[in-house]
Amino acid sequence: MRVVTLAGGTGAAKLLRGLVTCVPQRDLTVIGNTGDDTEVWGLHISPDLDTVTYALAGMLDVERGWGLAGETFNCLAAMATHGAETWFNLGDRDLATHLTRTRALRDGQPLSTVTARLAAELGVAVRILPMSDDPVRTMIRTPGGRLTFQEYFVREKALVEVVGVDYDGAPSAGPAPGVVESIQTADVVIVCPSNPVTSIGPILAVPGIVDALRSTTAPVVGVSPIVGGAAVSGPAGALMRVRGLAVSPLGVAEACAPWLRRLLIDPRDRACASDLARVGVEADVADIVMTDRAQEAALARRVLEVALERRGT
Ligand code: GDP
Repeated sequence: MRVVTLAGGTGAAKLLRGLVTCVPQRDLTVIGNTGDDTEVWGLHISPDLDTVTYALAGMLDVERGWGLAGETFNCLAAMATHGAETWFNLGDRDLATHLTRTRALRDGQPLSTVTARLAAELGVAVRILPMSDDPVRTMIRTPGGRLTFQEYFVREKALVEVVGVDYDGAPSAGPAPGVVESIQTADVVIVCPSNPVTSIGPILAVPGIVDALRSTTAPVVGVSPIVGGAAVSGPAGALMRVRGLAVSPLGVAEACAPWLRRLLIDPRDRACASDLARVGVEADVADIVMTDRAQEAALARRVLEVALERRGT
């Protein structure tokens, strides 16, 4: 069974860890968000691809939700001595990933090639694809000017007012090799519980990806990142409001209309089911908050069950 997922970082990483307990790694494809990519100290950082790769390698710092477990930050401290900006935390071992990626990109390799190589070198057999090899940058519009996503989220701690979100570069970007084909030939497509505006939104903004989602014969099933009127973590709520989306499973469904068939929602959001039906999305109530490995695996199983119930109907 070929399972294809659209993924951001922390929320997606949890469900993906669950999915690899149900599906052989080789049958799982991740289409990862690169709208959060940034450059720090001349290095190309792909935070969401790294979070997913580290999670699947069993190396993610689970408490932080990013970076490597047991990491040290000696280089960061030394860079501060030299007057470098240090608001974006880069761990010592994490730097090996960014150095490898940056060198490969400078040698002319596409991001998809080096992403596959990094995953393989860390023992991950899941196929991890960036949404695009072309630069797409999520820009957060604030009253004081535009910020990159990392400036907004990490430097400003998501505390500034947001008036809009842009996906720079998206109109002229193309899907990375394998992205469209994997969606077209999937048995199941899963939209991970990721930020609809800054994780799933940039993926959908790459021309060709929505067309593939509309035309695939695979059931497309999502897990709501919004529970009881708020994001489980992070700034999804504020960003959804700015995009005119309700901070509820309905807003999540609307961000994915009209190709999303089913959405797993929390029992607290049971009352949303009729709203979802109005936009053509069937609701399935499940325990969608993952706080340990058992819950990750149980939710992954449930998502696959829900998707397969739909098969051929
Ligand atoms: P980011 O790039 O690290 O922000 O990664 P994501 O977009 O994948 O993750 C953030 C989103 O995941 C937020 O909108 C959270 O509400 C959602 N999320 C995090 N943990 C969980 C969880 O256990 N269950 C569900 N349903 N959503 C979650």
